Order: sequence, then structure tokens, then C-alpha cells
Amino acid sequence: MIYLDNNSTTPVLPEVLEAMLPCFAETFGNPSSIHGGGRRALALVKEAREQVAALLDCQTSEVIFTSGGTEGDNLALKGMMNPGDHLIVSAIEHSAILNTCTWLEKQGCEVTRVGVNGNGQVEPDCVAAALKKNTKLISVMMANNETGVLQPVEEIGRIAAEADVWFHTDAVQAAGKIPISVGKIGCDLLSISAHKIHGPQGMGALFAKRGTPLRPQLHGGHQEKRRRPGTENVAGIAGLGKASHIAQAGLTDGSVEQLAKLRDRLEDAIESLVPDTSVNGRKAPRVPNTTNILFENVGGDALVMALDELGIAVSRGSACSAGGSDPSGVLMAMGLSGQQSRSSLRFSLGKQNTWEEIESAIAGIPDGVRRLREKSLIFWNA
Ligand code: PLP
Repeated sequence: MIYLDNNSTTPVLPEVLEAMLPCFAETFGNPSSIHGGGRRALALVKEAREQVAALLDCQTSEVIFTSGGTEGDNLALKGMMNPGDHLIVSAIEHSAILNTCTWLEKQGCEVTRVGVNGNGQVEPDCVAAALKKNTKLISVMMANNETGVLQPVEEIGRIAAEADVWFHTDAVQAAGKIPISVGKIGCDLLSISAHKIHGPQGMGALFAKRGTPLRPQLHGGHQEKRRRPGTENVAGIAGLGKASHIAQAGLTDGSVEQLAKLRDRLEDAIESLVPDTSVNGRKAPRVPNTTNILFENVGGDALVMALDELGIAVSRGSACSAGGSDPSGVLMAMGLSGQQSRSSLRFSLGKQNTWEEIESAIAGIPDGVRRLREKSLIFWNA
């Protein structure tokens, strides 16, 4: 299978698995235990915390281990907002943010969802214009999961600082693809997820800047400085640490540039070989691994299945909302029609993809699309 759905999840790298395996039986222990086994587990957690802090360019005390991006996003928003507070988010956030917003509204919070321009970018001026006296928090993602479009988080960070408002960014799809420095972004909170950077599923971290008044959403022990109690997932944490370390190295060893070359080759080939295609968000800066392509007059789900038969795994959009036939809210926010949004596919590459795989995908996709278009013509003419 040619796996081009890395924004949904990535395969765990062998080095990551190697770092995790001993935690289950050999170096197992509760990091809170003071005996040798506990101390060894604690050392693994400490090392991983340093690796995550290095990836985010923050202090180790500012890293809170979570069960993934969804929990990080929930903790950031629910941990900061009180009834009566106003929150600004973008309309293209992941459901982990958007559905938390709906819940917060039911608790008496106010939420403004700021739209995006045709390139899929939030306009900082629109964020500034949405500020109110009771605005407590702004949450705008760093990179969109469907289009890969980068958001102007540094400008939004400046707006938040000037307005004395807290700023969270969901960096789940940015981590490991572009450098992250929480200081440069000017954010107070930032979430990442291990399984998007070749780490394990069900593991993530939330950066919370020192002094950020984050309320825990779980109540229990003293772990994670009481910000996220519960016995640590040592194996998961070790996996996230290793994955972060490898992701950080990849930013300077040419891996990211290689990914961009593969993505560009795929995108250019599809655009030139398949008629009536265009790249959604092409004019905006994007993460190097993602391309979202509109195939006019093709049902996106049917194309996903047709490509699956050819051994190419892609998706129509966010894995968390796939399965339904709903059009993508992200693409609609960019001005695409419901039909166009249903005809768009996301190709997201990972470290493991090779030139040969991309060339094979290019060899198969045009024919797959043509056959599907012919079938639907027969259907409509019948
Ligand atoms: N935020 C974004 C932008 C995502 O793409 C995802 C996952 O697709 C999440 C949050 C949720 O992360 P997790 O799957 O670790 O809960």
C-alpha cells in the first residue's frame, strides 16, 4: 500500500518502538515510586520531557503530557474559560476545538468563529476586530489538517499580547513539519499529538507557559504538577519523546525538504495529468507534506475507494469527521461549494514515503479519476 494519509496518523518509527518496548516489562515502574523501578521510569519521563521541550523551544516545566491532541485542545480551552468569558477561534479548527466551543457555549461562554480567506488563511485583522472587553482566549491552529495551510500565528500572538488575552494554538499538524518556538509565536498554550509525528496513538502534550492559570480537567494525584493527574503513560511518553527528537532532527537534516519535493512532484503531476484539478490553498504557505486537490466532477468518497483498490490510501479530509458524507467545513469556509468540497482529496505524505511510491501513485491516479468520471457520465446519461 502507498500510504498517503499521514495527517490522519503516521506509522510508528522503529526507533520509537524500540524506545517504548522496554517500558512495558523491563524498565516498568510507576514514576511516583521511590524505589529503583520507579526512579528508572521517572528518568524516562524526564528525558522525554526534555525532548518535547526541545521540539517546542520551551521549559521542561511547561510541558504537560496528555492523551493526545484532543485532550490538549480540551484542556487548553476548558482550563482557561469561565462562564461569561469570550473566546475567539477560527472557523477551520479541528473538531477537538470546534466541538469544545459548542460545549463551552452551553456552559455560558461566548464564542466568535472567525472565517478564512480564499487561500484558507485567517486574517489577523479579523481576529483583532473580533476582540471584546470580555475576550479571555484566542485559539487559532498553526497548520490546517485538511489543506496544510499555515496560519499567521505570530501576528495573532502579537494581537493577543497587545489585548492582554491568552493565546492557544493547535500545532498538531505543524509539529515536525516546520520549526516551532513558543516564544516566537507568542502563545501561552500549544498542543501536539504523538501519532502525527511517527509516535504512538493516544499520546500528546500541551505546552502551558509558566504562570498560565490553567485549571486541570481531571482531579486526582500530583502528576504533571497537578495540571493533568493520573499515573503517567510511560511507554507513550517515551515514544513521544523519541518521536519529538527525531522530528526535530528532521527539520535540519534535509528530511523536510525531501518531503516538500515529493509533495510538489505529486501535486504538479496530478494538476498537469488530470484535467479539471486544482490545489486548494495553493497560494498560501503550507506545511511541506500536505496537498488538498479538487477533482471536479468526481465524488471524493468514490475516488478514495477507487484509489484504495489501486493500493493508494488517501482521505477526503479530517479522519475525525470522515465516514459521513458531509462536505468539508474547512473547504466551504474557503469558498468552495458543497459539491467541490466533496470532490476534494487530501494527500498527506510522511517520512516513510519514497520517490518510487510517489511515481507509482502518479501512474495510477489519472486513470482512476478518468474511469470514475466515465462511470458517472454513464450514470447521469442513463
Ligand atoms: N488537532 C488537529 C489539527 C488534528 O489534525 C488532530 C487529529 O487529526 C487533532 C487535533 C486531534 O489529535 P488526536 O488524534 O491526538 O486526539
